[in-house]
Amino acid sequence: MNIRKLLKFIGVFLFTMALVVSFSLLTMSDYILTKEIINQKGDTKKFEIFKSEAVGMLDKVYDWNFTFIKDLKKTFDQTNQIIRDQYSISDITIETIIDLSRQGESYVYSTSYVDKVFPSKDKTTEIKIKTLKDYTGWMEETDFSSKEELQKQLTNAQTNINNNIIYQEGFGNYEIKQLKFSLTKQASQGFIVDNSWLWLLLTVGLMCIGGLIYAFATYWREVPGIKNNSTFFSSVKSLGWIGIVLGIILTGFYVLIYFYPEYITNWVLLVDPVSRLLNGGEASHWFLYGFIYTLAILVMGIRMYLKYKGNNIQMIRTVSVMFFQLGFAFLIPEILYSLNKPGYDFKNIWPLDYDFFYGYNLNQLMSSGAFGWFILFWGITLIIIGVPVLTFFLGKRWYCSWVCGCGGLAETLGDPFRHLSDKSMKAWKIERWLVHGVLVFAVLNTAAVLYTLISGNGSLLGIGTEQIKTSYGFLISSIFAGVIGVGFYPLMGSRVWCRFGCPLAAYLGIVQRFKSRFRITTNGGQCISCGNCSTYCEMGIDVRMYAQRGQNIIRAACVGCGICAAVCPRGVLKLENKKEEGRFNEPKLIGNEIYSQVDSI
Ligand code: SF4
Ligand code: SF4
Repeated sequence: MNIRKLLKFIGVFLFTMALVVSFSLLTMSDYILTKEIINQKGDTKKFEIFKSEAVGMLDKVYDWNFTFIKDLKKTFDQTNQIIRDQYSISDITIETIIDLSRQGESYVYSTSYVDKVFPSKDKTTEIKIKTLKDYTGWMEETDFSSKEELQKQLTNAQTNINNNIIYQEGFGNYEIKQLKFSLTKQASQGFIVDNSWLWLLLTVGLMCIGGLIYAFATYWREVPGIKNNSTFFSSVKSLGWIGIVLGIILTGFYVLIYFYPEYITNWVLLVDPVSRLLNGGEASHWFLYGFIYTLAILVMGIRMYLKYKGNNIQMIRTVSVMFFQLGFAFLIPEILYSLNKPGYDFKNIWPLDYDFFYGYNLNQLMSSGAFGWFILFWGITLIIIGVPVLTFFLGKRWYCSWVCGCGGLAETLGDPFRHLSDKSMKAWKIERWLVHGVLVFAVLNTAAVLYTLISGNGSLLGIGTEQIKTSYGFLISSIFAGVIGVGFYPLMGSRVWCRFGCPLAAYLGIVQRFKSRFRITTNGGQCISCGNCSTYCEMGIDVRMYAQRGQNIIRAACVGCGICAAVCPRGVLKLENKKEEGRFNEPKLIGNEIYSQVDSI
């Protein structure tokens, strides 16, 4: 075995071992829930009920997170049931109010009847009175011609109150999710908590070292020039079983991060020391995500740098995405948190940054003084001026291939899978419908949020604005951008999200297609139809087809990565920013002029 093969083997071995250790760690803690831990979460009535319901769990040692989380969930359910029983409005209450409203043949409603049905005034009753009055205030002194009419309105109010009571007085789904995570993390005890640095090194550290050894062994002392040797024989890169397993692991990781973070608290514990170092606080699962995301871009960025050596543009572009991820997406927000400022990623642009106009974000920015106002100004300027102007001069590549975090991950971690993008016409059609559909959805979502914020009305055209917001967050931000967007790298290529789902890419694409100086020019006479360009286009563009026809490429989807030009053996393709004239050129059938000369002889 030569040294190169040996080093590659060591790299794969270290990476695999670290992966196995990482998964083993997930179940290796003990969990002890104490009163003190619960007290830190809150002291309102619902926490008091929770504490009394959790009495069977308190100080008990759980050696498996599954049973601990199962008991936690049961305790939240029981607490919510008690709250529902205490605060919900009963059928008897409604019947009594109807009886009190009777005036001869008709029924006249008054909120004063609500006080009459609840003579004793403890805290629970006061809340019931207030909510019932709030929900029925609009009916004050209304004359109902029949009992059924009044009953219908009161039953509607009763249903709404009883459905919302958990969100007002109990634990809503989002709060339960947050609490399950933080209670599990704080209840963790054992060797992981005590030796976080060591385990971080033995897991994430060794994975990085293994990856770097493999990359250096592959490209070390290679002559400059892009080599994609054996790509289609590789089980990892060409939908072999290793690629499929990798896809399942990546997808599973995203499902856990987004929906079940309480099961990965042992991983989050590993990065607690890093979080304390950067922002002075404990790590959340989002800190873990940002940390791993950044490391993935850095390690795979080094691989990309080595692979594309000799091609200056690709090397600089790789350094650029590494720089923006490390500095702008990871370090600056963490430093801002430590200074008690909003942790903003200055390169994230709406509508990709879909919650920029959400109430909580605007409130936070406006209450952060001049700095918050500056962020607001910066964000809006980027949307209105930055995106169209820069895209006019440079095409969407300035963002998608040089700055964006999603693009950065696609160009580095996703590079080995770029050829898996679907080049068919069907995929192109789906792409156009889907990506512009998401853009419309993003605009509607933001419009609905702003409408509620300004008018105070929670429904737009009969649809609850909260419902639109939740659907966008779940379908687009979590499932599409995360689970499918990255989880499917080894199955569908590296730009699934950028191509089919990113609303910002759609916006940039519209500008690039219709009002930009960017194009890829093709010197078709030189094309030997080898197909390298189409194969390695991560956006699924059939570049060769344009090259064969000598036609400029001005596709909205093109992220200007330049890989098509880099892998072309004949120098056919050139990414250019020139005057707009001649941008939309007709296809030239190369060689026709010669045949026509032959014909005329
Ligand atoms: S056409 Fe070329 S520059 Fe555009 S996305 Fe495809 S490979 Fe990248
Ligand atoms: S890589 Fe170059 S030579 Fe090969 S098909 Fe594409 S444009 Fe033609």
